[in-house]
Amino acid sequence: MKFCHTRRIPVVAFSGGTSFEGNFANTRRGLCIDFGRMAQVLALHKEDLDVVVQPGVGYEELNERLKEERLLFPPDPGMFCCTERYWLKVEELMMFTHRSWSNDRWYGRNRLLRHKRLPLRHDEELGHLPHYRPHRSTIIKTRQRPSKSSAGYDLSRLFTGAEGTLGLVTEAVLKVTVLPQNERVAVAAFSSIREATQCVSRVVQSGIQVAAVELLDAVSVKCLNESGSTDREWEEAPTLFFRFSETENGVREEIAVVKGLAEGMGNKSFIFAEDEQESTDLWMARKTILWGTAAVEKNDDDKLWATDCALQVSRLSDMIEQTKADLESCGLVHCVIGHVGDGNFHSAIFYSDEEKPIAEAVVHRMVERAIEMEGTVTGEHGAGLVKRDYLPLELGQGTVDAMRRVKNALDPLCLLNCDKVVRMEADR
Ligand SMILES: Cc1cc2nc3c(=O)[nH]c(=O)nc-3n(C[C@H](O)[C@H](O)[C@H](O)COP(=O)(O)OP(=O)(O)OC[C@H]3O[C@@H](n4cnc5c(N)ncnc54)[C@H](O)[C@@H]3O)c2cc1C
Repeated sequence: MKFCHTRRIPVVAFSGGTSFEGNFANTRRGLCIDFGRMAQVLALHKEDLDVVVQPGVGYEELNERLKEERLLFPPDPGMFCCTERYWLKVEELMMFTHRSWSNDRWYGRNRLLRHKRLPLRHDEELGHLPHYRPHRSTIIKTRQRPSKSSAGYDLSRLFTGAEGTLGLVTEAVLKVTVLPQNERVAVAAFSSIREATQCVSRVVQSGIQVAAVELLDAVSVKCLNESGSTDREWEEAPTLFFRFSETENGVREEIAVVKGLAEGMGNKSFIFAEDEQESTDLWMARKTILWGTAAVEKNDDDKLWATDCALQVSRLSDMIEQTKADLESCGLVHCVIGHVGDGNFHSAIFYSDEEKPIAEAVVHRMVERAIEMEGTVTGEHGAGLVKRDYLPLELGQGTVDAMRRVKNALDPLCLLNCDKVVRMEADR
């Protein structure tokens, strides 16, 4: 960073390269800093339930290491991640773009944000401030290890989700939990998306702390069947995957309550795992769905546009129904998958080169619809290059101007992943 600053070379940070919204695309040439070799677990504090990591550590390899101590880093991205580096790094969106995951309902999004990332250190350019020497990059620690602190501005939160536009994260403390003793999965199929999402609302209102609730629409379930990625033949209907994490009795009671609520919504079927192996198999179906969607591509050259929005759970049915109706009327092959427990859903849209303008228009309408319903244009993929222009609509121009001032204060030469999140020049 010192070299880049002296030579005024723009820098884009790169970890796993799995982000969706052009987050690490280069707008100004310059260097890409790859964190692949900063992949060490620096310290594990079992008694404090936290772990200090470098940014290149992938969540799966971290969990392998933690398992030896019967600990768990709970975020569970909706998809199966294999051992290729590309997929190992899914952990990092959690840090650099805002994120949610399958088990947010249980472990809590805010709680993780506060605990997991702290303290962060990052290299940043503060040469413009009078008490820093110019032409220097600085490493700062944004806070100490305790999960609770009110010492000054919460810079950790500021850098979380900043997509490498304010500084580069070199180290983070992640909150971990004790490995759950009992995990069970239940799967409920419904006649409509509305019934499924209303069931989620009821479960949330019942106060049951389900570890995760995931939605697959009928097309996604069809993909699962056609891809043959699981042994089971699934009912091709909107389906909820529930994951429970409790004592043995607790799990049994929770499943009974959720089953009752699903039946109250007129569900078509309800299955639950009798043992751990069956739970793993059922959950794996949810995690392999992205690969399954390839089964619905019309042509091999089709491109996949994976995009996301998040809303209050009470608005999800309207949002998903209207978005699906729009996609269907445009004739685009698509499926909808959601971390519905926290109101986040993804549309996976397949399109050919000729269909690109149609896909763009649908995504545009989806985003506007989300804002009209008091939702957000992205729940976890980040603003990147694609969603940044919707921020004024969602938050107001004044808020975006404030973000730009923060960017200017921390990166006055605009060297760090410029033009992501907020435009720094009108035409970039
Ligand atoms: C199949 C699949 C399933 C997914 N499921 C989920 C899910 O359930 N929940 C969820 O939240 N997300 C999910 N994601 C998104 C995923 O979490 C992100 O794509 C991933 O975490 C991004 O991390 P990465 O290491 O690939 O970052 P990259 O794509 O390399 O970078 C992301 C951004 O962070 C910046 N950056 C990289 N390294 C640093 C650094 N050291 N310091 C500062 N900035 C940096 C980059 O410049 C870029 O702007 C999924 C993605 C895929 C592909």
